[in-house]
Amino acid sequence: MSLTGPYDPDNIFAKILRGEIPAVKVWEDDHVLAFMDVFPQSEGHVLVISKTSQARNLLEVELEVLTRLTAAVHRTARAVDRALTPDGLSIMQFNGEAGGQTVFHLHVHIIPRWADRPMKGHGHAPMAEAANLRPIAERIAAALDPG
Ligand code: 5GP
Repeated sequence: MSLTGPYDPDNIFAKILRGEIPAVKVWEDDHVLAFMDVFPQSEGHVLVISKTSQARNLLEVELEVLTRLTAAVHRTARAVDRALTPDGLSIMQFNGEAGGQTVFHLHVHIIPRWADRPMKGHGHAPMAEAANLRPIAERIAAALDPG
C-alpha cells in the first residue's frame, strides 16, 4: 500500500470505530479513541486514532485533526507513565507499507519501555487476551488528566 490512494472504509480501525469488531478502550471523546493494541509490543501498548478523519497517514491528515490527535497522545502517554511507571516511552507512527504501516487509518503508538524488558518487534508480538488487556486499560484510564 503506497502513501497515496483511497481510504479503505473496511480497515480494522474503521471497523473498531463502527463497533463491528471489539476493542479494549482506554478513553474516547467525540474526536479521538485510545485503545489497547491487541498485539502489544510491551505491556500497556496503546493506539490513538481520530474518529473523524479518513487520513490514512500523517501526510494526509487535516491539521486540526492532528492537533487533537497530538493532544490525545500527550494525555494518554502521561496516564501510561503514571499508571505503569515505565523507564521510558516510545511514541511511534508509521506511514505507508514500506514505512512499516499495516493498518491504513492514521494512528500513533504509545509503547511503554522498561530497561530490563526487550520490546517485541513491530508485527511480531503475540495476540493478547482482552481479559488481560482490560485491567491495564482501566489502570491507564484511572490515571488520565482531567479532559
Ligand atoms: P501499524 O503497523 O499500522 O503501525 O500498526 C497497526 C497496529 O494495529 C499494530 O501494532 C497491530 O498490532 C495493531 N492491530 C492490528 N489488528 C488489530 C486489532 O484487530 N485490534 C487492535 N486493538 N489492534 C490491532
